[in-house]
Amino acid sequence: MRAVVTGGAGFIGSHLCERLLAEGGDVVCVDNFLTSGLHNIEQLMQHPRFRFSYRDVCQSLDVDGQVDAVFHLASPASPTDYLRLPLETLRVGSAGTWNALDLAASKNARFLLTSTSESYGDPQIHPQTEDYWGNVNPVGPRSVYDEAKRFGEALTMAYRRSRGVDAKVVRIFNTFGPRMRPDDGRAIPTFVRQALEGDPLTVTGDGAQTRSLCYVDDLVSGLVQMMAGEHGGPVNLGNPHEVSMLDLARWIIELTGSSSDIQLVPRPQDDPEKRRPDITLAREKLGWEPKTPVELGLRETILCLSNRLSQDAPAGQHGTAIPVPEQGLTAGVHS
Ligand code: NAD
Repeated sequence: MRAVVTGGAGFIGSHLCERLLAEGGDVVCVDNFLTSGLHNIEQLMQHPRFRFSYRDVCQSLDVDGQVDAVFHLASPASPTDYLRLPLETLRVGSAGTWNALDLAASKNARFLLTSTSESYGDPQIHPQTEDYWGNVNPVGPRSVYDEAKRFGEALTMAYRRSRGVDAKVVRIFNTFGPRMRPDDGRAIPTFVRQALEGDPLTVTGDGAQTRSLCYVDDLVSGLVQMMAGEHGGPVNLGNPHEVSMLDLARWIIELTGSSSDIQLVPRPQDDPEKRRPDITLAREKLGWEPKTPVELGLRETILCLSNRLSQDAPAGQHGTAIPVPEQGLTAGVHS
């Protein structure tokens, strides 16, 4: 199989490229490093079946030769990123998805959109099933991501219905693992960085809000199985194991052996109260469910972030590989 992975240099994309290569496939990774960097795919650059194309998928997306599958992951994904890149996020969710679907249509390839649990907004049913239409603020700050993804879902389904493209949608719930950026603003890398640096862990609100945490290896299995199957989705992919932000912070303090305290900071606007996928459909249609215990995944993530922070720390100071504007590390922008 020859697959195109847009956003293939990102956190999830780089793991997906590795998996596809390990399964004997050829991979064309397309990325413009908007929210990532070469370091995530450096280990793949010499691989004989891996090709990297530095490109903004909003401009054009031509790929020579046979293409059997297009995995469309390109998009800022962390709240910190999409809040500082609102127009880029809307453009890649619309024009970028359009180009990726056109590529799949022209090559008679399968297509998979990585949508998000954010399509449900701040959900009023719990856990979330795929037939729930969501509770999204269409004009709030987070709408640049939520509505871009909802548009992408509509576009994918329109290509499926009107152009006969074998196009599918998954809705990914919070996923974590090695290669998350220490500065990406999501709860796990933020807490780990703070714990490792001995800073207070900034929990938003009273910390009772919950997220479900899926390890990246399990998520990648779900993406591959969805692409191979017949179901068009949307299908939820995530771990139904739910944890409050306060408990997560305490857990990370324990696992890192840190002496950090916990500091409560204001909640960001439209931050969802609860997040837990109902994965009945994924179990039935894909035979998929997460297998990695969250604690094991947290240990792997802590190890990776710890190495990354020490590499990025010349003269005893922790730094980051990606330039982030000063407001980029706003406390409380967790998802
Ligand atoms: P990420 O930011 O690490 O990766 C996204 C990649 O897309 C980056 O490499 C970035 O440079 C690239 N990109 C962005 N705009 C581009 C453009 N115009 N042209 C080319 N490349 C571009 O994020 P991630 O966590 O790996 O997320 C990957 C996908 O999964 C995203 O579509 C995201 O919405 C979705 N998702 C992720 C999660 C999660 O918990 N990580 C949850 C829900 C959905």
